Amino acid sequence: MRRLAILGSTGSIGEQTLAVVGEFPERFSVAALAAGRNVDKLAEQVRQFRPALVSVGTDEGAHALRERLGAEAPEIAVGEAGLLEVATAPADLVVAGLVGAVGLPPTLAAIRAGRDIALANKEVLVMAGALVLREVQRHGVELLPVDSEHSAIFQALAGQRREDLAKIVLTASGGPFRTWSQSEIEEATTAQALAHPNWDMGPKITIDSASLANKGLEVIEARWLFDAPPEAIDVVVHPQSIVHSLVEFVDGSVLAQLGLPDMKIPIALALSHPERLPLDAPRLDLAAVGRLDFETPDTKRFPCLELAFDALRGGEAAPAVFNAANEISVAAFLEDRIGFGAIARTNGAVLAKFLSGSQGQAPLGSVDDVLEVDAWARREARTLLGGSAL
Ligand code: MG
Repeated sequence: MRRLAILGSTGSIGEQTLAVVGEFPERFSVAALAAGRNVDKLAEQVRQFRPALVSVGTDEGAHALRERLGAEAPEIAVGEAGLLEVATAPADLVVAGLVGAVGLPPTLAAIRAGRDIALANKEVLVMAGALVLREVQRHGVELLPVDSEHSAIFQALAGQRREDLAKIVLTASGGPFRTWSQSEIEEATTAQALAHPNWDMGPKITIDSASLANKGLEVIEARWLFDAPPEAIDVVVHPQSIVHSLVEFVDGSVLAQLGLPDMKIPIALALSHPERLPLDAPRLDLAAVGRLDFETPDTKRFPCLELAFDALRGGEAAPAVFNAANEISVAAFLEDRIGFGAIARTNGAVLAKFLSGSQGQAPLGSVDDVLEVDAWARREARTLLGGSAL
């Protein structure tokens, strides 16, 4: 029986993780759950999975949860301290399913407590890849990718010698604006950006998929997960989302992992590794799919992808800047305060300012260094957005 602690249990990854747990109750138990504001859904999860500990975002949330659950209520923790409690609760595997920078401190705490990590919260590696990997090695824990692309690469690399790896190729669906003109993209609405053609995901990552910022974040994530320099990472647009990524070896041989676009598959693998679970899910029928298309990403229409490579080449701290600026600009877009095109312009302007300054190349020694850079980039992005010149 593998005991799980789930950070972000009411989000897209958390819900799908619990769906897998529900299908295999003899293999997994739920030790602890952390959610933010969705008290109704958390109460349902507590009734079904009986964790000993949960965490919610606020004191009001904790009060509401206690009222809903009465005598059935587990121990309830609150806020950032609550996330840390859930991350370090007695468990075998912590599912890092939060979105954004908020997931960094609890994920690091889980690693330091010796927990294996199923990582969906890519910002953890984007912000602090070098630091996180040092801690992973120091504590001898496993870091299992949940992101479909990284799960594909992880699978393609299994049993291979690292020195034989020549290149990693991440596939990108291209998102809802793949065939749109630059001016159409500029004017895109939130509803249009939220309508992803293949994947059912949370709002932040769906917007990032439309701008290709998500692929940029994934490039940075891959750099750390697979110890690959930026020049050994490529992106190819593949609208069907059947080939989830590829690995090229020094002899020119290429291995890929294929499947229908269903997050349950990589989630289940991260939960059960090195075993595989007999999932009750539709199977890939290649004859029914008919054809698989591939194209070069257009960084003119989707500048966020190139910005991520710039950040990766710009020293240890620059990816955190790109990520923080993007979190602020995407939030502004989701609140209808800026147009879609302003997301990339904001990210680019903040990153350029950082890279031209003196702080650019300094390595990240601690989480505080990371959070300082993160806070700086957020302030810069807010200032730019407030100025409305974008
Ligand atoms: Mg992905």
